[in-house]
Amino acid sequence: MDLFEYQGKQFFAEYGMPVSPGEVAFTVDEAVAAAEHVGTPVMVKAQVHAGGRGKAGGVKFAADLDAVREHAANILGLDIKGHIVKRVWVEKASDIAEEYYASFTLDRSAKKHLGMLSAEGGVEIETVAEENPDAIAKIWIDPVDGLTPEVAREWVLAADLNPAVTDGAVDMLLKLYRAYTEGDADLCEINPLIVTPDDVVHVLDAKVTLDGNSVFRHPEYAQYDATQPRDERETAAHEKGLQYVGLDGSVGVIANGAGLAMSTVDVVNQVGGKSANFLDVGGGANADVMAGALEVINNDPDVLSILINIFGGITRGEEVANGILEAMQRVTIDAPIVIRLDGTNADEGRAILQPILSDTLMMEDTMLAAARRAVELAS
Ligand code: GDP
Ligand code: MG
Repeated sequence: MDLFEYQGKQFFAEYGMPVSPGEVAFTVDEAVAAAEHVGTPVMVKAQVHAGGRGKAGGVKFAADLDAVREHAANILGLDIKGHIVKRVWVEKASDIAEEYYASFTLDRSAKKHLGMLSAEGGVEIETVAEENPDAIAKIWIDPVDGLTPEVAREWVLAADLNPAVTDGAVDMLLKLYRAYTEGDADLCEINPLIVTPDDVVHVLDAKVTLDGNSVFRHPEYAQYDATQPRDERETAAHEKGLQYVGLDGSVGVIANGAGLAMSTVDVVNQVGGKSANFLDVGGGANADVMAGALEVINNDPDVLSILINIFGGITRGEEVANGILEAMQRVTIDAPIVIRLDGTNADEGRAILQPILSDTLMMEDTMLAAARRAVELAS
Protein backbone atom coordinates (compact mmCIF):
# COMPACT_ATOMS: atom_id res chain seq x y z
CA MET A 1 0.00 0.00 0.00
CA ASP A 2 1.76 3.14 -1.24
CA LEU A 3 0.92 6.38 0.54
CA PHE A 4 0.79 9.82 -1.00
CA GLU A 5 3.42 12.19 0.38
CA TYR A 6 0.91 14.00 2.59
CA GLN A 7 -0.34 10.71 3.99
CA GLY A 8 3.24 9.64 4.65
CA LYS A 9 3.80 12.87 6.54
CA GLN A 10 0.62 12.33 8.53
CA PHE A 11 1.89 8.82 9.32
CA PHE A 12 5.29 10.17 10.39
CA ALA A 13 3.69 12.88 12.51
CA GLU A 14 1.94 10.19 14.52
CA TYR A 15 5.37 8.99 15.59
CA GLY A 16 6.41 12.47 16.64
CA MET A 17 8.38 13.47 13.57
CA PRO A 18 8.31 17.15 12.63
CA VAL A 19 6.51 17.88 9.34
CA SER A 20 5.28 21.13 7.82
CA PRO A 21 1.66 22.21 8.18
CA GLY A 22 -0.37 21.94 5.00
CA GLU A 23 -3.63 21.00 3.31
CA VAL A 24 -4.72 18.80 0.43
CA ALA A 25 -6.51 20.45 -2.50
CA PHE A 26 -8.33 18.97 -5.47
CA THR A 27 -8.97 22.21 -7.36
CA VAL A 28 -7.16 25.49 -7.98
CA ASP A 29 -9.58 27.35 -5.71
CA GLU A 30 -9.05 24.83 -2.94
CA ALA A 31 -5.30 25.23 -3.35
CA VAL A 32 -5.56 29.00 -2.97
CA ALA A 33 -7.79 28.60 0.08
CA ALA A 34 -5.31 26.12 1.53
CA ALA A 35 -2.46 28.60 1.03
CA GLU A 36 -4.53 31.26 2.77
CA HIS A 37 -5.01 28.98 5.79
CA VAL A 38 -1.39 27.84 5.86
CA GLY A 39 0.09 31.26 5.13
CA THR A 40 2.41 32.06 2.21
CA PRO A 41 5.05 31.33 1.09
CA VAL A 42 4.03 27.74 0.36
CA MET A 43 5.09 24.81 -1.75
CA VAL A 44 2.51 23.41 -4.18
CA LYS A 45 3.23 19.70 -4.54
CA ALA A 46 1.72 17.12 -6.89
CA GLN A 47 0.41 14.07 -5.03
CA VAL A 48 1.04 10.97 -7.11
CA HIS A 49 2.44 7.53 -6.38
CA ALA A 50 5.71 8.35 -8.13
CA GLY A 51 9.01 9.97 -7.23
CA GLY A 52 10.90 12.66 -9.12
CA ARG A 53 7.97 15.05 -9.01
CA GLY A 54 10.26 18.05 -8.64
CA LYS A 55 12.07 17.32 -11.91
CA ALA A 56 8.74 16.77 -13.67
CA GLY A 57 7.49 20.23 -12.65
CA GLY A 58 5.23 18.90 -9.91
CA VAL A 59 6.82 20.76 -6.97
CA LYS A 60 6.71 24.57 -7.04
CA PHE A 61 7.47 27.38 -4.65
CA ALA A 62 4.75 30.04 -4.40
CA ALA A 63 5.52 33.36 -2.73
CA ASP A 64 1.95 34.63 -2.87
CA LEU A 65 -1.60 33.54 -3.69
CA ASP A 66 -1.33 34.48 -7.38
CA ALA A 67 1.63 32.15 -7.70
CA VAL A 68 -0.33 29.42 -5.89
CA ARG A 69 -3.15 29.83 -8.42
CA GLU A 70 -0.74 29.64 -11.35
CA HIS A 71 1.20 26.61 -10.07
CA ALA A 72 -1.88 24.69 -8.94
CA ALA A 73 -3.42 25.21 -12.39
CA ASN A 74 -0.27 23.86 -14.03
CA ILE A 75 0.24 20.94 -11.68
CA LEU A 76 -3.35 19.64 -11.46
CA GLY A 77 -3.81 17.38 -14.48
CA LEU A 78 -0.08 17.05 -15.09
CA ASP A 79 1.15 13.61 -16.20
CA ILE A 80 4.03 12.47 -14.00
CA LYS A 81 5.45 9.14 -15.15
CA GLY A 82 2.01 8.02 -16.30
CA HIS A 83 0.24 9.26 -13.16
CA ILE A 84 -2.23 12.09 -13.66
CA VAL A 85 -2.17 14.60 -10.80
CA LYS A 86 -5.60 14.83 -9.19
CA ARG A 87 -4.62 16.41 -5.89
CA VAL A 88 -1.94 18.77 -4.65
CA TRP A 89 -0.51 19.25 -1.18
CA VAL A 90 -0.02 22.88 -0.20
CA GLU A 91 2.49 23.17 2.60
CA LYS A 92 4.31 25.95 4.39
CA ALA A 93 7.62 26.48 2.58
CA SER A 94 10.77 25.69 4.54
CA ASP A 95 14.18 27.31 4.39
CA ILE A 96 16.77 24.74 3.52
CA ALA A 97 20.43 24.73 4.56
CA GLU A 98 21.14 21.09 3.75
CA GLU A 99 19.33 18.15 2.16
CA TYR A 100 19.91 14.63 3.51
CA TYR A 101 18.50 11.21 2.77
CA ALA A 102 17.20 8.64 5.28
CA SER A 103 15.33 5.39 4.81
CA PHE A 104 14.48 1.97 6.19
CA THR A 105 13.57 -1.06 4.11
CA LEU A 106 13.75 -4.78 4.57
CA ASP A 107 16.82 -6.55 3.22
CA ARG A 108 15.29 -9.94 2.58
CA SER A 109 18.54 -11.72 1.81
CA ALA A 110 20.17 -10.47 5.01
CA LYS A 111 16.93 -11.07 6.97
CA LYS A 112 17.50 -7.68 8.54
CA HIS A 113 16.22 -4.15 8.29
CA LEU A 114 18.41 -1.94 6.15
CA GLY A 115 18.87 1.69 7.13
CA MET A 116 20.41 4.13 4.67
CA LEU A 117 21.55 7.61 5.56
CA SER A 118 23.34 10.13 3.40
CA ALA A 119 24.40 13.75 3.53
CA GLU A 120 23.73 13.84 -0.23
CA GLY A 121 19.96 13.94 -0.26
CA GLY A 122 17.50 15.70 -2.51
CA VAL A 123 18.59 13.70 -5.55
CA GLU A 124 17.54 10.15 -6.31
CA ILE A 125 19.36 7.72 -4.02
CA GLU A 126 19.99 5.40 -6.98
CA THR A 127 22.11 8.16 -8.52
CA VAL A 128 24.08 8.63 -5.31
CA ALA A 129 24.52 4.85 -5.03
CA GLU A 130 25.93 4.76 -8.54
CA GLU A 131 28.10 7.85 -8.57
CA ASN A 132 29.22 8.11 -4.98
CA PRO A 133 28.36 4.91 -3.07
CA ASP A 134 30.59 5.87 -0.13
CA ALA A 135 28.29 8.80 0.56
CA ILE A 136 25.62 6.37 1.81
CA ALA A 137 26.03 5.05 5.36
CA LYS A 138 24.22 1.72 5.62
CA ILE A 139 23.35 -0.29 8.67
CA TRP A 140 21.70 -3.65 8.99
CA ILE A 141 19.49 -3.97 12.03
CA ASP A 142 18.50 -7.27 13.56
CA PRO A 143 14.75 -6.90 14.19
CA VAL A 144 15.19 -8.62 17.57
CA ASP A 145 17.75 -6.06 18.74
CA GLY A 146 16.05 -3.05 17.18
CA LEU A 147 17.81 0.26 16.69
CA THR A 148 19.43 1.51 19.90
CA PRO A 149 20.31 5.17 20.48
CA GLU A 150 23.99 4.18 20.62
CA VAL A 151 23.92 2.46 17.24
CA ALA A 152 21.90 5.33 15.75
CA ARG A 153 24.55 7.79 16.94
CA GLU A 154 27.41 5.78 15.40
CA TRP A 155 25.41 5.58 12.20
CA VAL A 156 24.85 9.34 12.10
CA LEU A 157 28.56 9.96 12.71
CA ALA A 158 29.44 7.53 9.91
CA ALA A 159 27.22 9.49 7.52
CA ASP A 160 29.23 12.64 8.11
CA LEU A 161 26.29 14.97 8.65
CA ASN A 162 26.63 18.50 10.01
CA PRO A 163 27.85 17.89 13.61
CA ALA A 164 25.41 20.54 14.86
CA VAL A 165 22.47 18.24 14.05
CA THR A 166 23.78 14.94 15.42
CA ASP A 167 21.26 14.85 18.29
CA GLY A 168 18.39 15.93 16.06
CA ALA A 169 19.27 13.34 13.42
CA VAL A 170 19.56 10.54 16.02
CA ASP A 171 16.18 11.46 17.43
CA MET A 172 14.64 11.56 13.95
CA LEU A 173 16.08 8.18 12.95
CA LEU A 174 14.84 6.50 16.15
CA LYS A 175 11.37 7.83 15.44
CA LEU A 176 11.58 6.79 11.80
CA TYR A 177 12.61 3.29 12.86
CA ARG A 178 9.67 3.11 15.25
CA ALA A 179 7.29 4.24 12.51
CA TYR A 180 8.78 1.67 10.15
CA THR A 181 8.56 -1.27 12.54
CA GLU A 182 5.50 -0.51 14.67
CA GLY A 183 3.65 0.80 11.64
CA ASP A 184 4.38 -2.40 9.69
CA ALA A 185 5.91 -0.49 6.79
CA ASP A 186 7.89 -2.06 3.95
CA LEU A 187 9.54 1.26 3.18
CA CYS A 188 9.93 4.56 5.00
CA GLU A 189 11.98 7.09 3.07
CA ILE A 190 12.66 10.78 3.71
CA ASN A 191 14.29 12.53 0.77
CA PRO A 192 15.10 15.23 1.50
CA LEU A 193 15.44 15.19 5.22
CA ILE A 194 16.43 18.81 5.62
CA VAL A 195 18.41 20.90 8.02
CA THR A 196 17.04 24.42 8.38
CA PRO A 197 19.33 27.47 8.71
CA ASP A 198 18.87 27.27 12.48
CA ASP A 199 20.02 23.63 12.55
CA VAL A 200 16.66 21.93 12.97
CA VAL A 201 16.15 18.54 11.29
CA HIS A 202 12.84 18.39 9.44
CA VAL A 203 10.92 16.04 7.11
CA LEU A 204 10.39 17.56 3.66
CA ASP A 205 9.30 14.57 1.61
CA ALA A 206 7.82 11.22 2.62
CA LYS A 207 7.67 7.97 0.73
CA VAL A 208 5.91 5.25 2.70
CA THR A 209 4.79 1.79 1.70
CA LEU A 210 2.72 -0.03 4.29
CA ASP A 211 2.31 -3.78 4.39
CA GLY A 212 -1.28 -4.35 3.27
CA ASN A 213 -1.36 -7.61 5.24
CA SER A 214 -1.00 -5.68 8.50
CA VAL A 215 -4.28 -3.79 8.13
CA PHE A 216 -5.95 -6.03 10.73
CA ARG A 217 -3.53 -4.57 13.29
CA HIS A 218 -4.11 -0.99 12.11
CA PRO A 219 -7.79 -0.31 11.45
CA GLU A 220 -6.88 3.34 10.82
CA TYR A 221 -5.08 2.29 7.62
CA ALA A 222 -8.50 2.07 5.98
CA GLN A 223 -8.09 5.79 5.24
CA TYR A 224 -4.94 5.06 3.20
CA ASP A 225 -6.49 2.02 1.57
CA ALA A 226 -9.40 4.17 0.38
CA THR A 227 -7.11 6.30 -1.81
CA GLN A 228 -5.18 3.43 -3.42
CA PRO A 229 -5.33 3.43 -7.20
CA ARG A 230 -7.54 0.48 -8.16
CA ASP A 231 -7.07 -2.05 -10.89
CA GLU A 232 -10.67 -2.88 -11.89
CA ARG A 233 -9.69 -6.48 -12.52
CA GLU A 234 -8.28 -6.74 -9.00
CA THR A 235 -11.39 -5.24 -7.47
CA ALA A 236 -13.61 -7.74 -9.32
CA ALA A 237 -11.36 -10.65 -8.36
CA HIS A 238 -11.14 -9.66 -4.70
CA GLU A 239 -14.92 -9.37 -4.55
CA LYS A 240 -15.01 -13.02 -5.56
CA GLY A 241 -12.50 -13.84 -2.84
CA LEU A 242 -9.73 -14.68 -5.33
CA GLN A 243 -6.04 -14.02 -4.78
CA TYR A 244 -5.40 -11.98 -7.91
CA VAL A 245 -2.75 -9.51 -8.97
CA GLY A 246 -3.12 -7.73 -12.31
CA LEU A 247 -0.08 -7.73 -14.63
CA ASP A 248 0.29 -6.31 -18.12
CA GLY A 249 0.80 -9.34 -20.36
CA SER A 250 -1.59 -11.37 -22.50
CA VAL A 251 -1.53 -14.88 -20.99
CA GLY A 252 -4.19 -15.26 -18.31
CA VAL A 253 -2.90 -17.51 -15.55
CA ILE A 254 -4.90 -19.69 -13.18
CA ALA A 255 -3.06 -21.95 -10.75
CA ASN A 256 -3.65 -23.55 -7.38
CA GLY A 257 -1.34 -22.36 -4.65
CA ALA A 258 0.55 -19.09 -4.54
CA GLY A 259 3.89 -20.81 -5.19
CA LEU A 260 2.63 -22.61 -8.28
CA ALA A 261 0.89 -19.46 -9.52
CA MET A 262 4.13 -17.49 -9.22
CA SER A 263 6.11 -20.26 -10.92
CA THR A 264 3.56 -20.26 -13.73
CA VAL A 265 4.00 -16.53 -14.24
CA ASP A 266 7.76 -17.16 -14.32
CA VAL A 267 7.56 -20.03 -16.79
CA VAL A 268 5.36 -17.97 -19.12
CA ASN A 269 8.10 -15.35 -19.00
CA GLN A 270 10.82 -17.93 -19.50
CA VAL A 271 9.30 -19.13 -22.77
CA GLY A 272 9.01 -15.59 -24.10
CA GLY A 273 5.49 -14.61 -23.06
CA LYS A 274 3.99 -12.25 -20.53
CA SER A 275 1.33 -13.04 -17.99
CA ALA A 276 -1.79 -10.92 -17.72
CA ASN A 277 -2.14 -11.75 -14.06
CA PHE A 278 -1.27 -13.86 -11.06
CA LEU A 279 -4.25 -15.85 -9.84
CA ASP A 280 -4.23 -18.42 -7.08
CA VAL A 281 -7.49 -20.35 -6.83
CA GLY A 282 -6.30 -21.96 -3.61
CA GLY A 283 -6.67 -25.55 -2.56
CA GLY A 284 -10.32 -26.10 -3.41
CA ALA A 285 -10.54 -25.22 -7.10
CA ASN A 286 -14.20 -26.28 -7.22
CA ALA A 287 -16.62 -25.20 -9.92
CA ASP A 288 -17.57 -21.95 -8.18
CA VAL A 289 -13.99 -20.84 -7.71
CA MET A 290 -12.97 -21.92 -11.20
CA ALA A 291 -15.96 -20.19 -12.81
CA GLY A 292 -15.16 -17.00 -10.88
CA ALA A 293 -11.52 -17.17 -11.94
CA LEU A 294 -12.39 -17.73 -15.60
CA GLU A 295 -14.88 -14.87 -15.51
CA VAL A 296 -12.33 -12.43 -14.13
CA ILE A 297 -9.76 -13.45 -16.73
CA ASN A 298 -12.31 -13.45 -19.53
CA ASN A 299 -13.22 -9.86 -18.70
CA ASP A 300 -9.62 -8.74 -19.18
CA PRO A 301 -9.51 -7.43 -22.77
CA ASP A 302 -5.73 -8.00 -22.96
CA VAL A 303 -5.98 -11.75 -22.43
CA LEU A 304 -5.32 -13.72 -25.62
CA SER A 305 -4.88 -17.17 -24.09
CA ILE A 306 -5.47 -18.81 -20.73
CA LEU A 307 -3.17 -21.19 -18.92
CA ILE A 308 -4.70 -23.33 -16.19
CA ASN A 309 -1.97 -24.98 -14.17
CA ILE A 310 -3.18 -27.32 -11.42
CA PHE A 311 -1.17 -29.64 -9.27
CA GLY A 312 -3.40 -31.85 -7.17
CA GLY A 313 -2.23 -32.26 -3.61
CA ILE A 314 -4.98 -32.65 -1.08
CA THR A 315 -7.28 -31.53 -3.90
CA ARG A 316 -7.85 -34.50 -6.18
CA GLY A 317 -7.53 -34.28 -9.95
CA GLU A 318 -11.09 -35.35 -10.69
CA GLU A 319 -12.49 -32.67 -8.40
CA VAL A 320 -10.54 -30.02 -10.26
CA ALA A 321 -11.51 -31.46 -13.64
CA ASN A 322 -15.17 -31.45 -12.67
CA GLY A 323 -14.77 -27.88 -11.48
CA ILE A 324 -13.32 -26.84 -14.83
CA LEU A 325 -15.99 -28.79 -16.70
CA GLU A 326 -18.83 -27.15 -14.81
CA ALA A 327 -17.24 -23.70 -15.00
CA MET A 328 -16.92 -24.03 -18.77
CA GLN A 329 -20.66 -24.64 -18.97
CA ARG A 330 -21.40 -21.53 -16.92
CA VAL A 331 -19.01 -19.06 -18.53
CA THR A 332 -18.42 -18.50 -22.22
CA ILE A 333 -14.73 -17.99 -22.67
CA ASP A 334 -13.34 -16.06 -25.62
CA ALA A 335 -9.67 -17.00 -25.40
CA PRO A 336 -8.24 -20.48 -26.02
CA ILE A 337 -7.41 -22.45 -22.88
CA VAL A 338 -4.45 -24.70 -22.19
CA ILE A 339 -4.69 -26.99 -19.18
CA ARG A 340 -1.93 -28.75 -17.34
CA LEU A 341 -3.25 -31.10 -14.68
CA ASP A 342 -0.91 -33.18 -12.55
CA GLY A 343 -0.54 -34.60 -9.06
CA THR A 344 -3.08 -36.61 -7.08
CA ASN A 345 -5.51 -38.48 -9.34
CA ALA A 346 -4.30 -36.59 -12.40
CA ASP A 347 -5.22 -39.50 -14.70
CA GLU A 348 -8.80 -39.51 -13.46
CA GLY A 349 -8.97 -35.75 -13.94
CA ARG A 350 -7.55 -35.87 -17.45
CA ALA A 351 -10.03 -38.60 -18.40
CA ILE A 352 -12.88 -36.31 -17.38
CA LEU A 353 -11.55 -33.45 -19.53
CA GLN A 354 -10.64 -35.60 -22.54
CA PRO A 355 -14.13 -35.54 -24.15
CA ILE A 356 -14.36 -31.75 -24.17
CA LEU A 357 -10.91 -31.06 -25.63
CA SER A 358 -10.95 -29.06 -28.86
CA ASP A 359 -8.76 -26.59 -30.70
CA THR A 360 -9.73 -23.97 -28.13
CA LEU A 361 -9.39 -26.22 -25.08
CA MET A 362 -6.13 -28.10 -24.96
CA MET A 363 -4.26 -30.20 -22.48
CA GLU A 364 -0.49 -30.57 -22.12
CA ASP A 365 1.44 -33.02 -19.95
CA THR A 366 3.95 -30.62 -18.48
CA MET A 367 3.95 -27.09 -17.16
CA LEU A 368 6.62 -26.08 -19.66
CA ALA A 369 4.76 -27.49 -22.66
CA ALA A 370 1.53 -25.88 -21.51
CA ALA A 371 3.22 -22.52 -21.07
CA ARG A 372 4.77 -22.78 -24.54
CA ARG A 373 1.41 -23.56 -26.07
CA ALA A 374 -0.34 -20.73 -24.23
CA VAL A 375 2.35 -18.24 -25.26
CA GLU A 376 2.12 -19.40 -28.86
CA LEU A 377 -1.62 -18.87 -28.82
CA ALA A 378 -1.20 -15.40 -27.37
CA SER A 379 1.25 -14.21 -29.99
P1 GDP B 1 10.29 14.74 -5.34
O1 GDP B 1 10.94 15.45 -6.46
O2 GDP B 1 9.12 13.94 -5.80
O3 GDP B 1 11.25 13.89 -4.56
O4 GDP B 1 9.68 15.86 -4.36
P2 GDP B 1 10.32 16.56 -3.06
O5 GDP B 1 9.23 16.73 -2.08
O6 GDP B 1 11.50 15.81 -2.58
O7 GDP B 1 10.74 17.99 -3.59
C1 GDP B 1 11.75 18.13 -4.56
C2 GDP B 1 12.68 19.26 -4.18
O8 GDP B 1 11.96 20.46 -4.05
C3 GDP B 1 13.37 19.05 -2.84
O9 GDP B 1 14.53 18.27 -2.96
C4 GDP B 1 13.69 20.48 -2.47
O10 GDP B 1 14.91 20.87 -3.06
C5 GDP B 1 12.56 21.28 -3.09
N1 GDP B 1 11.63 21.64 -2.02
C6 GDP B 1 10.57 20.92 -1.56
N2 GDP B 1 9.96 21.54 -0.53
C7 GDP B 1 10.63 22.70 -0.33
C8 GDP B 1 10.51 23.78 0.60
O11 GDP B 1 9.63 23.81 1.49
N3 GDP B 1 11.38 24.81 0.48
C9 GDP B 1 12.36 24.82 -0.47
N4 GDP B 1 13.19 25.84 -0.51
N5 GDP B 1 12.52 23.82 -1.35
C10 GDP B 1 11.68 22.76 -1.28
MG1 MG C 1 11.86 13.73 -2.70
